[in-house]
Amino acid sequence: DSVFASVVRAPEDPILGVTVAYNKDPSRVKLNLGVGAYRTEEGKPLVLNVVRKAEQLLVNDKSRVKEYLPIVGLADFNKLSAKLIFGADSPAIKENRVTTVQCLSGTGSLRVGAEFLARHYHQLTIYIPQPTWGNHPKVFTLAGLSVKTYRYYDPATRGLNFQGLLEDLGSAPSGAIVLLHACAHNPTGVDPTLEQWEQIRQLMRSKGLLPFFDSAYQGFASGSLDADAQSVRMFVADGGECLVAQSYAKNMGLYGERVGALSIVCKTEDVASRVESQLKLVIRPMYSSPPIHGASLVATILKDSNMYHEWTLELKAMADRIISMRQQLFDALSARGTPGDWSHIIKQIGMFTFTGLNSEQVAFMTKEYHVYMTSDGRISMAGLSTKTIPHLVDAIHAAVT
Ligand code: PLP
Repeated sequence: DSVFASVVRAPEDPILGVTVAYNKDPSRVKLNLGVGAYRTEEGKPLVLNVVRKAEQLLVNDKSRVKEYLPIVGLADFNKLSAKLIFGADSPAIKENRVTTVQCLSGTGSLRVGAEFLARHYHQLTIYIPQPTWGNHPKVFTLAGLSVKTYRYYDPATRGLNFQGLLEDLGSAPSGAIVLLHACAHNPTGVDPTLEQWEQIRQLMRSKGLLPFFDSAYQGFASGSLDADAQSVRMFVADGGECLVAQSYAKNMGLYGERVGALSIVCKTEDVASRVESQLKLVIRPMYSSPPIHGASLVATILKDSNMYHEWTLELKAMADRIISMRQQLFDALSARGTPGDWSHIIKQIGMFTFTGLNSEQVAFMTKEYHVYMTSDGRISMAGLSTKTIPHLVDAIHAAVT
């Protein structure tokens, strides 16, 4: 008998499991709106032209070797990533009080940041929005933090529960960590306005709450890298401290390359360098050092002004296609006369729409229309196209009538 005979089968990941179920469905009209990855109008994954170009450059550069990167990753990549999120003229960067380490995409950056906090920060409670990306509670719990939630989404308005958010953060213990989605909140697509961000900032600073930003969609939400970094930059501009996890999965389409960065903004250069020395002690026994290929691609693109510009255009094109899918879906539901207010589809932002469909309606749409999505009613707008919208509208219409 196997020494592992008593191992029980674990459930499928609730998000990745949607694709597993989709792949098993033989239907020709099936539609996968569960996947959190960009698709073209033809439903295909996209490799950006600028990424292909950077890849060619790297392949042709015979001086490149496959040596290990340092524990903290590629130095150029780290510097350019900090500049991208904090802004070229960020005082925190100029004053050398930011430490940035290359990590395994957004998830790895969150995990390394959380492991560091669990070892070196005095308050081990982290508040995450309700709802949030399903992996957040697991990442933080396993790192040794204690997870609590703050109110975020109001099902009645399908918008932000701003009052609830302020109340919950207002009653959080002083020093608590707060996870904030920098933009394009997943799964709701609901972001605070800049005025609301300013109020959140004032409240958090007055209570000494520590911001931990998850920036998985910079540039992907509005099409502008700067606009999507505004929330983070407001918190850095006040001179206070924060953590930021960055991912290049969506905005450069580098999903499987697992390339991201963790930045910790400190009060002084001396603290930042001590923090970095401890980040190395977190990383070394976990995976020793990060992979070289994806980070080299990102650095090549960010370093060269022509390639950078080309990237911003391709990024904007992805964001624009998603925004246009919102409009088309909204228009099609209106034209069909589907009961209910669907204006949240065009108000929400980023890769996802939180449709408001409940789990029975979702199950009905999957069973009868082969439309796949997470049971909370979240659909990936990037998985839609002009061709597939009529089928989705049929499914939604049948589910709500
Ligand atoms: N954070 C949020 C809010 C996300 O939606 C995702 C991906 O779906 C991630 C982090 C992490 O993605 P990755 O680890 O692929 O960069």
